[in-house]
Amino acid sequence: MSAVKREHFDIVIAGGGMVGVSLALQLGEVLPPATSILLVEGFPLPAQGNGGAPQYHPAFDARSTALSYSSRLIYERMQVWDDLCQWLCAIESIHVSSRGRFGSTLLRASDHQWPALGYVVENAWLGNSLIRQLRQRGRVEVRSPAKVVSAAPTGAGVSLQLQGDTAGITAGLLLVADGAASGLREQLGVAVSEKPYQQHALVANIAFAEPHRGCAFERFTDDGPLAVLPLLASRDGEQRGALVWTLPAASAGRLRECPPEEFLATLQQRFGYRLGRMLQVGERHEYPLSLVQSTEQVRHGIVVMGNAAHALHPVAGQGFNLALRDVAELGQVLAQGLAEGMPLGDLALLQRYQRRQQSDQQRTIAFSDRVPALFMHADPLLGLGRDLALAGLDFLPGLKREFVRHAAGVATGSGSANG
Ligand SMILES: Cc1cc2nc3c(=O)[nH]c(=O)nc-3n(C[C@H](O)[C@H](O)[C@H](O)COP(=O)(O)OP(=O)(O)OC[C@H]3O[C@@H](n4cnc5c(N)ncnc54)[C@H](O)[C@@H]3O)c2cc1C
Repeated sequence: MSAVKREHFDIVIAGGGMVGVSLALQLGEVLPPATSILLVEGFPLPAQGNGGAPQYHPAFDARSTALSYSSRLIYERMQVWDDLCQWLCAIESIHVSSRGRFGSTLLRASDHQWPALGYVVENAWLGNSLIRQLRQRGRVEVRSPAKVVSAAPTGAGVSLQLQGDTAGITAGLLLVADGAASGLREQLGVAVSEKPYQQHALVANIAFAEPHRGCAFERFTDDGPLAVLPLLASRDGEQRGALVWTLPAASAGRLRECPPEEFLATLQQRFGYRLGRMLQVGERHEYPLSLVQSTEQVRHGIVVMGNAAHALHPVAGQGFNLALRDVAELGQVLAQGLAEGMPLGDLALLQRYQRRQQSDQQRTIAFSDRVPALFMHADPLLGLGRDLALAGLDFLPGLKREFVRHAAGVATGSGSANG
């Protein structure tokens, strides 16, 4: 009796979160049509043409994401930006302040002759738009719900097992994009370094009495940093902002569960009346925070991507933007490799990708790690330093410019974002 023949794909992407779906779109765009690509996602992805409210998906949940200018350029090149635009709220300014202290600064897009400092999108709508475009293009095969349950290197690439599929598949290149708690990374024996921040992010949408006029607020309190990102007004004209509040675990748990009126009163006291009275809070979600970094990102036939490679503190809004720059660079390197006649899983080719992204990754991770630490200190002298640092942003245009360039993901040499 002959053995069941395994299916073969040139590339398999394991994980269809924001990074996996963006990878699928990017590779479908830059690689020749003959390159076969499969995307495998454990949860059901929305069906094609779903124009209504987005279906629930854990990777595209109630959070919102601040997309940087570099992400805009990448999505424009992928030709998904035009569709995405309808769900975006432009950040025209960022107000940075510290509760109970005098320092504050206003960063304005117009001061840098930029159209915006960034764009806020609700993850559910980002997912809906990207998946719809992926399905419409039909370039990448999508299996969902389907789970990659095992992965093992072979001489030519990787051999994979999908749940409930006895035959299994082989891939010339496996892209591991299954999130911060990546099961595949662990199974492949790739170690991680983890630095817990002892903080949780509390996330919710808030309705305000006054319009935000495209202003994002970054406010540092004794409990931890608090960001309110501008969202598009709801269909019935409700003025909304996306709250990301970083807190000690116990406070986050209490505030997630307390009655809405008590939550709003506490938040109003911390945030103040910059957007008038807070009228309503949506569903509250809580995320434990740590810096998780994979100690290896490439092996023969394997690349670890997105949160599986590096999950960052959200306060600087850099995690997904960095992952998207990785996605763009990997696409370029694989296309070059194919043009040079190299196999897609060739270690030297994958190392080329890693070399090109290394400094962007190191700089962005260090920046994301430094910002919350700088503003978490209880030491009054450090507090004074913090005020000076905030005030300094206004006094030192060079420093302020550097901060804005980081926030926009276009700091010097950040790979393909500039290209
Ligand atoms: C509160 C908060 C706010 C944030 N705000 C910002 C921001 O403003 N800007 C920014 O740039 N970044 C932000 N981030 C970071 C951003 O959310 C992450 O970078 C991004 O979600 C990473 O996506 P991912 O696809 O790598 O992982 P995930 O979203 O975890 O997706 C992994 C996917 O893999 C699937 N999966 C898992 N195992 C398997 C398997 N075995 N087989 C198949 N599928 C599998 C899962 O179902 C899931 O869909 C924020 C993060 C947090 C926590």
